[in-house]
Amino acid sequence: MNAGEALEKLKEGNKRYIASERGNGDISPARRLETAGHGQDPYAVIVACSDSRVIPEEIFSAGIGELFVIRVAGNVVGAHELGSIEYALEHLDCKLAVVLGHTNCGAVGAAIRHDPDGHIKYLTDAIRLAIWDETDDRKASCLNAKHGADKIRKAFLRDLPEEKGILVTAALYHIDSGKVDFEI
Ligand SMILES: [Zn+2]
Repeated sequence: MNAGEALEKLKEGNKRYIASERGNGDISPARRLETAGHGQDPYAVIVACSDSRVIPEEIFSAGIGELFVIRVAGNVVGAHELGSIEYALEHLDCKLAVVLGHTNCGAVGAAIRHDPDGHIKYLTDAIRLAIWDETDDRKASCLNAKHGADKIRKAFLRDLPEEKGILVTAALYHIDSGKVDFEI
């Protein structure tokens, strides 16, 4: 599946999610056995926040073996995340990577309004590099997701994105409506 087809599939899945009350992904025993036997062939990489309200497979109506998901608070993209993304892009042949920020993100809010200590500081420091002095939560979440997408592009695409056919994009998930906005 090429990047454009993968993006359409995500948008289509999000529409079904918004309109439904239950999951739409194929998590059947048959699908489980099929992917256990033949390996995984995910069509997109999703970097999302650990927030319990943000469930990528549900949001895109995806089942077993469809999305390669990396979740970390504040959907920050650091060395470990890049390692996971590299595996999906270069070894599983995924053509689409999406950094999915979301509204009302606690990690982004903490980076704006607090000065946490402990290990949370690793996250808020990374987010501050992306949002600078932005104090609007929603705008900051968009900046943070875009920054993550830029880091992925710099790591893997450099000057030749079209050669590899890989698309890296940022998006914003609205935790109230369920909609994913790909134009941010
Ligand atoms: Zn969050």
